[in-house]
Amino acid sequence: MPTCLITGVTGQDGAYLSQFLLQKGYHVIGLLRRSASSDTVGERLRWLGILDKVELVDGDLVDLSSLIRILQAHQPTEIYNLGAQSFVAASWNQPLLTGQVTGQGATNLLEAMRIVLPRARYYQASSSEMFGRIQEPIQNERTPFYPRSPYAVAKLYAHWMTVNYRESFGMYALSGILFNHESPLRSIEFVTRKITDGVARIKLGMARELALGNLEAKRDWGHARDYVRAMWLMLQQDEPDDYVVATGRNSSVRDFCRIAFSYAGLNYEDHVVSRSELMRPAEVDVLLGDASKARQKLGWQPTVSLEDMIAEMVDADVERHRKRRQA
Ligand code: NDP
Ligand code: GDP
Repeated sequence: MPTCLITGVTGQDGAYLSQFLLQKGYHVIGLLRRSASSDTVGERLRWLGILDKVELVDGDLVDLSSLIRILQAHQPTEIYNLGAQSFVAASWNQPLLTGQVTGQGATNLLEAMRIVLPRARYYQASSSEMFGRIQEPIQNERTPFYPRSPYAVAKLYAHWMTVNYRESFGMYALSGILFNHESPLRSIEFVTRKITDGVARIKLGMARELALGNLEAKRDWGHARDYVRAMWLMLQQDEPDDYVVATGRNSSVRDFCRIAFSYAGLNYEDHVVSRSELMRPAEVDVLLGDASKARQKLGWQPTVSLEDMIAEMVDADVERHRKRRQA
């Protein structure tokens, strides 16, 4: 049975990737950072019914010694570095922490791997946010980067360190440059989940209004379940290489609202307001990915449409609120 290590196992992608790898027969080790609320940290794994199937081990990306000890003890052949301070808006309030976790955390893990398991395979969760103020209308692996937030700058550092360890030490280390991907397990502060949760609360009569920031921003949104499959496919190739993962279709926040509210029989214009205090100091106006390389070399393609994903997310949020009200 192959063993893998996932950092960020309690997050959206960590949960779906765990589920995917368990189905493939892996022994899944998940890095769990210490929390005083340990009864709730496994919520996403529990939601997928796999909390008891993942082996959770104590550690933190900012603590190199914990990473070394984990690699020594468990000897994973595949390492997925998904752990991060992942919320762009928060990165202006906590730029140093974001640098330490999202940026330097990757170097800590690469170093631990270089010391303990130089032959393991390493996946870095790079982000389309690195394209930021876009230099080409459609972004692929050759598009120059222009990060626009402390989060994106930290991700870019981690991205280049991954490339550097591959080139300097011949390590099997690669990056997936993933465009935004969502699901019912997306954190509530991201705009998609904020919208579907808002739709659910308005539908159930618990709220009347949903306050958002920039409604004109455009993103290339896919489903997390499709995107974790791409991560695994990347690590199965003979040679390590970086790949863009995207749907090739983008929509505005306004479009997302229109679809989500109308799915629930509502008109978004009656409920959504745009507030200046929710705008960002520097915005990424538009992202659109070209995943032809992933399609050709990995045989990967998305299977879930934006409309189906939004329906799944709205249904899940309505169900969550109904259950909470009954409890
Ligand atoms: P989440 O925010 O849902 O999960 C982040 C994970 O990182 C959580 O498990 C969190 O743990 C963990 N973490 C935070 N700080 C530390 C730390 N110091 N040490 C160890 N673990 C830590 O992110 P997603 O699942 O959405 O994304 C996964 C990765 O992919 C992230 O790196 C993200 O930046 C990147 N990415 C995501 C995209 C997306 O659209 N979802 C797009 C492109 C890249 P805890 O539960 O304790 O907070
Ligand atoms: P990001 O692409 O990783 O920053 O993902 P988000 O879901 O946080 O934001 C996507 C886009 O939605 C950005 O351009 C935000 O400015 C925009 N947006 C508009 N209103 C909101 C809001 O209320 N919350 C969040 N998170 N984003 C918003």
